[in-house]
Amino acid sequence: MLWAMFEMSIKCPRCDSPIHVDGPYRKLRCGSCQSDIDFPEDVWKDLLEDVSGEVAGFKPGEGSSSNIFGHFNMTFLYGALTPYCRECKRDFDMENEYTPGQTELTCPDCGSRMPVFKAPDWFASAVPGARLVAGAWPEGGYEQGKSEVSSPVAYSCPQCGGSLMIDGTERLVTCEYCGTRVYLPDDLWLSLHPAKKKNRWFVGFDRKTAMESIEDDE
Ligand SMILES: [Zn+2]
Ligand SMILES: [Zn+2]
Ligand SMILES: [Zn+2]
Repeated sequence: MLWAMFEMSIKCPRCDSPIHVDGPYRKLRCGSCQSDIDFPEDVWKDLLEDVSGEVAGFKPGEGSSSNIFGHFNMTFLYGALTPYCRECKRDFDMENEYTPGQTELTCPDCGSRMPVFKAPDWFASAVPGARLVAGAWPEGGYEQGKSEVSSPVAYSCPQCGGSLMIDGTERLVTCEYCGTRVYLPDDLWLSLHPAKKKNRWFVGFDRKTAMESIEDDE
């Protein structure tokens, strides 16, 4: 199997904040403005169709990064890299440490775990040769669905000084004392929605399909 590492983020089309694309997802959520963004299959196809062939020509550890202005403004980093443990950086030996059907890789050195799953059908048909995904959660899975909202904080209504409990679900809140509609300031909003760190994730390609896609180009 040929492994490629991806790290990508787009600019939110509504508010320009960065949104990390941390796995093969067709829906993304902007942490700043809470918009749901569609990331359709044909965008994945345009983006990744030729990547496996390119990665097949890379030496291990070699990569490429680009800024793309297309359907989205995005930064995209990819390279020839085997999945590695996030904690201790040890490479997984995918030939020996993964058996088909497994949903987690466990690092033999430090015990930390990483999800792994079969590439979903829509992804495998958009991106020829894609077989496995590692370091990302399945669409709608635990991490992707996890709420990023932290515990409620108190905020004083700028109009009447009444104490409001803000839980971060709505940016525009109505003061329960005076009825004023309060738009929460950036610093408060950002403290409720801390920026997530970018995540590297990995796709395992069928080497033969990847090699064929280079030959097609010649
Ligand atoms: Zn946004
Ligand atoms: Zn480890
Ligand atoms: Zn008020």
